[in-house]
Amino acid sequence: MRVFVVNSGSSSIKYQLVDVVSEQVVLSGLLERLGQPGGGADQNSAVDHESGMRLVLDRLGPEAATIAAVGHRVVHGGELFAAPVVIDDEVVAGIRAVSALAPLHNPANLAGIDAARLALPGVPHVAVFDTAFHQSMPAAAATYAIDRAVAAEHGVRRYGFHGTSHQFVASRAAALLGRPLESLKLIVLHLGNGSSATAVDGGRSIDTSMGLTPLAGLVMGTRSGDLDPGALLHLLRTGLSIDELDALLNSRSGLLGLAGSADMRDVMAAADAGDADAALALHVWAHRIRHYVGAYLAQLGGLDAVVFTAGIGENAPVLRARALDGLAHLGLAIDADRNGSPSREARVISPEGAPVAVLVVPTNEELAIAQAAAALVG
Ligand code: ADP
Repeated sequence: MRVFVVNSGSSSIKYQLVDVVSEQVVLSGLLERLGQPGGGADQNSAVDHESGMRLVLDRLGPEAATIAAVGHRVVHGGELFAAPVVIDDEVVAGIRAVSALAPLHNPANLAGIDAARLALPGVPHVAVFDTAFHQSMPAAAATYAIDRAVAAEHGVRRYGFHGTSHQFVASRAAALLGRPLESLKLIVLHLGNGSSATAVDGGRSIDTSMGLTPLAGLVMGTRSGDLDPGALLHLLRTGLSIDELDALLNSRSGLLGLAGSADMRDVMAAADAGDADAALALHVWAHRIRHYVGAYLAQLGGLDAVVFTAGIGENAPVLRARALDGLAHLGLAIDADRNGSPSREARVISPEGAPVAVLVVPTNEELAIAQAAAALVG
């Protein structure tokens, strides 16, 4: 069974044709500069989403006839969507209704959905939400302690993101451990350009570090992560505009703000070369991760495994070790040889017989979306 996976951004369409059984990518591609100057001038761009999707269909050629379903990544499902759904006009209206919560992402996702439904009208389209996995969080974890009426009116609560990745990685971790997911208490650390931590109890998200938006939690490439909300008021009172504050926190903070590069490899190289700012950035990065590991250990009331995934989590042994440094008293330890040996496979990096397993599990959001779509449409 083949699923066509679409990740539609405001100016780009990323796509993959995935064979769900063999888990192989049949083909993949990217169109850029949609709706921007120069869009449509060459083969890797398009004027808009609609013409872009027609171009993609041309590229698929005879493969288009093998598509059993289309899986769409949708960033925000609000409280409306707690699982993937087959898209109809009502679902489109629902995604639009929660767009205020992700004004940059949901309209762009919808543009891709509209264009793909036009281009491929004969197959089911499925929306897979970044937030859905976290809808299982208890109210205690999802609720911010502000005026309840204001929160309700504006949908202000913790939603969490990267849910597709956290869920996929949790289930692969269970397979690697050879135990049912329902029996496991896991902390999943998705450490990429965007980063988040999730406490997974019996296959359900019970807490996660991102919040109303993907700005909360861990130190990221360009995003600040957690910050005293009073700091925002303070900065606004100094005369910063809302757009300037938005750009500061979303685009000029995190590793970039602390160390001058959003790319972890640059920050590591700079720290190795003696750059004090880069060294501090790594300390802050690891400190924040340990903060969440400790918190989620307490919320879970026990722990079977910590799971590293995404660009940094999968590829940076030194940082995996730093993130868990000093946590041996909690049963968390890393075996240096296992941690250091390069591999693309899911693997255990804790010492033999350790009370808590530490795992590296590669994430694959496209495959996860394809699997979710396939499961839904049979
Ligand atoms: P995105 O959130 O954009 O999908 P990724 O999951 O691809 O991001 O992660 C990107 C991050 O992973 C970057 O900070 C990059 O520097 C980091 N990264 C990739 N490979 C390595 C490596 N070998 N060592 C350290 N960091 C790495």
